[in-house]
Parts: sequence; structure tokens; C-alpha cells
Amino acid sequence: MRQYELVERVKSYDPNADEDALNRAYIFAMRMHSAQKRESGEPYFSHPLAVAELLTEFRLDSATIIAALLHDTIEDTAASYADLKELFGEDVANLVAGVTKLSKVQLKSEASKQAENFQKLVLAISSDIRILLIKLADRLHNMRTLGYKKPESRLRIAKETMEIYVPLAERIGMQNMKDNLEDLAFKVLYPDAYETIETRLAFLAEKGQEEVAEVIRTLSADMAENGIEAKISGRQKRPYSIWRKMQDQNVPFEQIFDIMAFRIIVKDVAECYHVLGVIHTKYPMIPGRYKDYISTPKLNGYRSLHTGVIGPLGRRIEIQIRTQEMHDVAEWGVAAHWEYKQGAHKEGKQYRWLRDLLDLMNHCSDPNDFLEHTKIAMYQDQVFCFSPKGDLITLPKGATPIDFAYAVHSGVGDTCVGVKINGKISPLRTILQNGDQVEILTAKNQTPSAEWERIAVTAKAKAAIRRFVRTQKRREWIDEGRSALAALAKEYDLLFSDKDLSPILANTKFKTEDDLLSGIGEGLVSAKEIFHLMHPQNKLSLYRKTMSLFRKSPAKTESKTESQMPVTGVFPGLSLTFAKCCHPVPGDQIVGIVTTGKGIAIHTQDCPALAELKDEPERWLSVDWNPVKLQGARLPARIKITLEDKTAAMPELMTLLAQQKVVVSSLNTLTRSGGWVDLLLDIEVADKTQLDSVMQMLRANHFVSTVNRVKAG
Ligand code: MN
Repeated sequence: MRQYELVERVKSYDPNADEDALNRAYIFAMRMHSAQKRESGEPYFSHPLAVAELLTEFRLDSATIIAALLHDTIEDTAASYADLKELFGEDVANLVAGVTKLSKVQLKSEASKQAENFQKLVLAISSDIRILLIKLADRLHNMRTLGYKKPESRLRIAKETMEIYVPLAERIGMQNMKDNLEDLAFKVLYPDAYETIETRLAFLAEKGQEEVAEVIRTLSADMAENGIEAKISGRQKRPYSIWRKMQDQNVPFEQIFDIMAFRIIVKDVAECYHVLGVIHTKYPMIPGRYKDYISTPKLNGYRSLHTGVIGPLGRRIEIQIRTQEMHDVAEWGVAAHWEYKQGAHKEGKQYRWLRDLLDLMNHCSDPNDFLEHTKIAMYQDQVFCFSPKGDLITLPKGATPIDFAYAVHSGVGDTCVGVKINGKISPLRTILQNGDQVEILTAKNQTPSAEWERIAVTAKAKAAIRRFVRTQKRREWIDEGRSALAALAKEYDLLFSDKDLSPILANTKFKTEDDLLSGIGEGLVSAKEIFHLMHPQNKLSLYRKTMSLFRKSPAKTESKTESQMPVTGVFPGLSLTFAKCCHPVPGDQIVGIVTTGKGIAIHTQDCPALAELKDEPERWLSVDWNPVKLQGARLPARIKITLEDKTAAMPELMTLLAQQKVVVSSLNTLTRSGGWVDLLLDIEVADKTQLDSVMQMLRANHFVSTVNRVKAG
């Protein structure tokens, strides 16, 4: 196509086209590409020219045609966005920049399951729908000249066409474009199937030619008879649609009868239904084939009546009935609105499909805007980025590498240390752009920083960071809570350990000891308050009274510190005794009793002897075992054994105890009767656990009847 032909073509449907700019664009593109050749050996300029020519078929505005001529100049020549803006204006420069961006979107073969995301990415980049139209025309021309490419790239491009551009063409209602792309891609992707179907279609076409003409003649006569003015055309179905039918219905080629389709175009909607009536009256209907897309248009705006009948020659045929307007929309889709803009607006009516498309694509409140603006807001609130493997990750606009990392996997997010965007090390706060390739760098010992929460925009990332930070904070709070209580305890010469909290948990709103400690650290509850719960006011004053008893005593001169005493909670240097009534051993719940000699006697808390001291609370001391001091120490415990009164019994008992390395410090026979003897034994053990296990072992002996701990004199 020559320069003047192109200009004339545009002017033929758009008298107001910018002729000068068209001419300048033609020459500019030709010059810029002058040194380049296509794979076919043709001058490169033949490609943008063919794309521009294709778009004139869609009667697109001159800005689109100019952008089509220039569409590869930013990517493949020395021309820049600024150059184009200066020479052809911002509108054209933006269109070319958009197409250039789209050319960077490449479907990697393993990513085909993500085709839908790729479609969204393309729509997101096509902020102006004319960008998508230029890209589709570009792709159509590339598909037509695909034969010159290497086989691998042929397959990739065909797959990409089938999975991304075919659905997009359908989505904006460009049936013609969709059919063309689909058949071209089909031929590359399934060459054998294509070949077979083509051969058979060619064979059928030979004898079918006559049949098609015959059917058209008959249908025309039917229309004339009923006073209907109609344009009737017949055609074979396309290879891909036949193949799809064979796949979907799992039938061989021979059983696809309606490979011939006829189209009847009439003046208005009423006439459409009239034609349908005529057809159904005269020819037997094939059940399940009637579809009314006039009353229920397809989402992309397609309207038509479809039916299947046993036609004039006794063959199954498909018939589509529609108006010219419906036909134009079906063929040209979104492009039809430019034509509409030029001529049809005087009727003041809107194509319904246009409104639907608009709703679909823009969520725009005022559909009329679409005629003035070609902007689409589809997925503009999202950003699509690639992983190094080519997986497409969808994020909200404004997302950062932190969001990307957590979108991949929370483990990746937690250990993220840096990022490479398009191969370049970049700050983690970088706002990601459509099509960015993002590689997250991780390190095993890295942990999320609280800072990240401000950088992230996705709920997933924010929640993960918050969760992590909270866990970390909690650990700090628990430590703080513990030291606060320990410090208070120290003021009263007490020792604090976590398990001291167990008895008072029920009186707080906290579930576990850690919760409580964390609550103190976080400041939800004061350490003092909890300390008083543990040591109620009366007990404290009681304690002070107790202490005052000692203050009069000179015994404090000893160098012993509290940690050297076998029990905690007593004054260092005091004489400490273990009560002979209950024989406490480590592990027993104990209490300290101030003795008349101003020493302290340790009793088990269930010692019966304590009953006498009920009325002298000031003598009671809260004490506990000092685990450090008790290492290796042994204390006597008293047990009572009922043994069979046999000669062999006593030696066996002693052997058993020796085997357990238990020292018997005293043994008394209490009673002897009826073949049984009761013994009172004092044995030295390290703690209650050992005592329990010794008693357990004794009970297992065949001479032993019962074994009990004795806690009263
Ligand atoms: Mn191109």
C-alpha cells in the first residue's frame, strides 16, 4: 500500500482525518526502519504499514492509524517517546508507548495456566483501548507472517496468541479478529489436526460449492415469497470451530454435519423473528440448536438468532439471522463505535452492547463518556509482576517487594533481605510496576522488621509482619514482666518464679502465666497489683511482723546469703530445722514456722502439727525449696510398711532398699499380729520423686502389703 492510498483510505471514512500527520508518520516510520529487514527479507516498514492498513478496515481514527505506523519505532529504532510527542502529539506518543510496553509481555510456556492473569496484565497496560486494538492488529500480521520465524518462537507466539489475544479479541467483541487469530494459531499448534480438517473441507467444498449456491437460491426464494428483503450468504465453518466441536462433543469429522452455515441479514429486529418463523415452518428444526442472542446478548455485545435445521438439500445447516447493525458489531466489535461516532450518533441511540461492554470494562458511571474517551480503567488498581520463573503475581497498585515476597510465600516474606527488580538491586520500598520481574533475596536468619508494615500494602503481608512483630514483642514483654515481679519480690526478700503465678491466674483476665507476664510488660496490668494478689496485704503485714521478730535477734551476722539456704523465703543465717513430725523432703509443699528458739522449722503444709499454730499467724513463713542449694542433699522421710511376717521378708526388704541406694537411718517395729508386721522406716532421699518411686517399688514386692508416708509423730 502506498502512502497516498493509506491516506485516502482513512479520509474515505473520516473526512476530518489529520492528513498532514498521517503523511509525516508514514515517512518518519519508513526512515526510522529503513536499515531493518523482517525475517522474510522484506523491508521492516512493510510490517507497520500492514498493521495500519488492517486498522483502516476497522475504520479507526487517524491517531490510531498514525500510532500503528509508528508502533515499533520506540522499541526498535532510535526514536524516543519525547521525539514522538514532539512530532505527533501526546495522544499518539502514549499509544505507541503503550504498545511498546505490551510487546514486553511474553507468555512463558510453563506459565500457560496463568493465561487469565496475562490477559488482565494486557488489559491493565492497555489503559487506552486503542493500544489493545493496535496490538491485536500487530499480532494478526505477525501471525500471518509467522512462517519465517524459528519453530520454537513460532510455537510460543501461537500459544500466546491462543491463550491471551484470542480471548481478548472475543472479550471486546471483535469476532473477525478472533476467528483469524484463532485459525492461524490453531494451524501452528495442531498442524496435523489442521491439515486433516482442511483437506476434508477442501474436498467437501468442491462439491459443496454447488450446494451452497443451491441453498442460498432456495432460501432467497423463501424470503421473497414472504415479502422479506434479505441479504443471504453461505460459508463453510472455520477449521478451528470444527475441531473444537469434535473435541467438545467427542465426535469424528463425519458426524459434524452442519459444517455449512448461512447468514440472513434483514432490516430490523421484528424481521429477524419473522425470518426465524419462515425457516422453522418450512424446515425441520434440530433440537437444542436454537439460541436467541437478541433478547439475551452475549457479554461482549454479540446479538443474533441462531438455529439449526435440516435444510433445502436435506442437509443439516446452521442459520444465523441478524440486522446489519448487529452484524457490524459482531464483526468489528469495539471498533464499530468509531463508525457509529461518525454517522449513527444522529439517531441518538446507543448500541446496547456498548453499554454492556462499558460496564464490563470500565465500571464507569456515565456510559456516554465512552464515546469521548477511549480510556479503560480495567485492572488499573492492580499491578502484575513476574517471578524469576515467569509466574505472574497479581498485587494491588502501590505494592512493594515486601508484598510480592509474602504473596509468593510467607516463608519468603519472613526471610526477605533485599530485592532485584528487572535484574537490578532495588530498595524494598520501591513501588512495583506492571511487568516488573521481581527476584526476592532471602537469608536464613533474617526476620521481618516492624518498619515493613508501613511499606507493605497487602493485608497478607501486613498481617504476617504484625504477627511476627507481636511474637517478638511478646517475648520482650514477658521478660519485662518477670523482672518487674522479681524486683518487687526482692524488696520483700522474696524470690519470684513463674509458677508462683499459677494460684492467682484465675483471679486475673489472663489465661496463662506467660500471658500474665506479657500483660505486665505491655502495661495492661501493673506488677504491684499482681504482686499483691500473690501476697495479699494481710500476709504482707504479717510477714513484716515476722521480720520484726528477727530484727531483735543478733543472728544476722552470718555471712550466709539467701541463696545458700536450702529453702527460700527465710532470713539468711537463721537456724533451720526440718520438722521431725512430717519429715519434709524437696518436692513437698512446705511452710516455715518460727520456733520459740527463734529458729525456723520447716513442715509440710499438710502436717497435722500445724493445727496447733492456727492462731499464731505471725509465726508462719511462706517458704519454698531452693533447688540450687539442695543439689545432692538427702533428707529423711518416714514411711510405714506392712510386711508379711516371714523370715525371708526382712532381708529381702533391706536388699531392695540397698539396690535403690536408699540409706535407712532408723527402723522400728510397731506391731506384729496375724502373720503381718508393721514397720516404721526413716529413709534418706533426694526428693519426693525418689521417695515416690521407692514406695512404688516396695509396693510391687510380694511380701509387702501396704506402704504409706507418715507425717505425724
Ligand atoms: Mn510490530
